[in-house]
Amino acid sequence: MKKAYLYRLYPREEQAALLQQQLDVAREVYNACLLERREAYRMAGVTLNYYAQANQLKAIRRDRADIAAVNFSMLQAICRRAQRAYTAHKLVRAFDVLCHEDLAIKNMVRNHALARSISDAAWGQFIAILVGKAEGAGRQTVAVHPRDTSQTCVCGELVPKDLSERWHHCPRCGLSLPRDQVSAMLIKALGLEMLANKSGLGSSPQAPTWPAGACVA
Ligand SMILES: [Zn+2]
Repeated sequence: MKKAYLYRLYPREEQAALLQQQLDVAREVYNACLLERREAYRMAGVTLNYYAQANQLKAIRRDRADIAAVNFSMLQAICRRAQRAYTAHKLVRAFDVLCHEDLAIKNMVRNHALARSISDAAWGQFIAILVGKAEGAGRQTVAVHPRDTSQTCVCGELVPKDLSERWHHCPRCGLSLPRDQVSAMLIKALGLEMLANKSGLGSSPQAPTWPAGACVA
């Protein structure tokens, strides 16, 4: 079993000033990342990837001693966070309802090594940002039970695949698409069904539980 400990810090005055300085730099870099993304898209229709921004960090650190004083990995993490926030912002603007897998359940049912992988942590952070932004904008998010979402066709047929198989081909209805795309279609269908059931519009026998707290990650 792994435990986490939380300590409250009581920094001295000069330590507090140093921490504040680092927070100020973090905020400035984060805002600059977001601004550059918005401008690149507005002016050239370009969506910047993470590396386009992270690769500028070294040059910026040469010019700015205060930014050079901040841990490099932290600056990279800020670039990633800005990328996720920007993507979440675009999704929330474009769609009224956003369906995603319930990661709390997913982590419980998957094996521990996988559940703790970095990609899961990144995805978890993205979903948390997305859900927060959606709430602020009055959009709905639905957390869908992740059971068999990669092994089922939209027609309901079970189509088993191991992780290396990236293509979905259904022997029953003939649907042939990349597996992630089919999973997304299925998650959307399940999410909309949950919404319909919740509002009393549907009468499907499958009624996944509404995960308490899942929408306020
Ligand atoms: Zn099918």
